[in-house]
Amino acid sequence: MLYVHHEPDSRCWSLDGHGAITAGEAAELVGHSHVSVKPVIDLAVPIQCPGYVASPRLKEHLALMNAGLCTFPHCDQPAIGGDFDHQEAYPRGPTSTTNGGHLPCRRHHRVKTFTDWRVATITTGVWLWTSPTSEHYLVTAGTTTPLR
Ligand SMILES: [Zn+2]
Repeated sequence: MLYVHHEPDSRCWSLDGHGAITAGEAAELVGHSHVSVKPVIDLAVPIQCPGYVASPRLKEHLALMNAGLCTFPHCDQPAIGGDFDHQEAYPRGPTSTTNGGHLPCRRHHRVKTFTDWRVATITTGVWLWTSPTSEHYLVTAGTTTPLR
């Protein structure tokens, strides 16, 4: 999956993880690929799903919030196959970007659920993990920063 952004007014193209590309490079990508055009995912606009299960659209939204990675400290597993973590248990808390708003991989979702690891959402796209020994890790944009 490639995310290519185009601003018709400025004639600018960019490829996530790469940066600006020329119109020729964009045409080559489009011309030699199977292309699905999707609506823009605006990470600033919260979304909610009915029921317990996160929709593929919600999971894609959340995966993009951490550069496509699991939100557990130093984990490099892809987020898109991860589990939606309800910060406030369903049905008290909705299945939404505002109730948890992150996708740990299955292993780390179980670590968070069944051990003393804790996570707090500081703001959209920024998570503070606390280990059972009270070590803190700030996770955002696919990077982990240990706090001392
Ligand atoms: Zn993980």
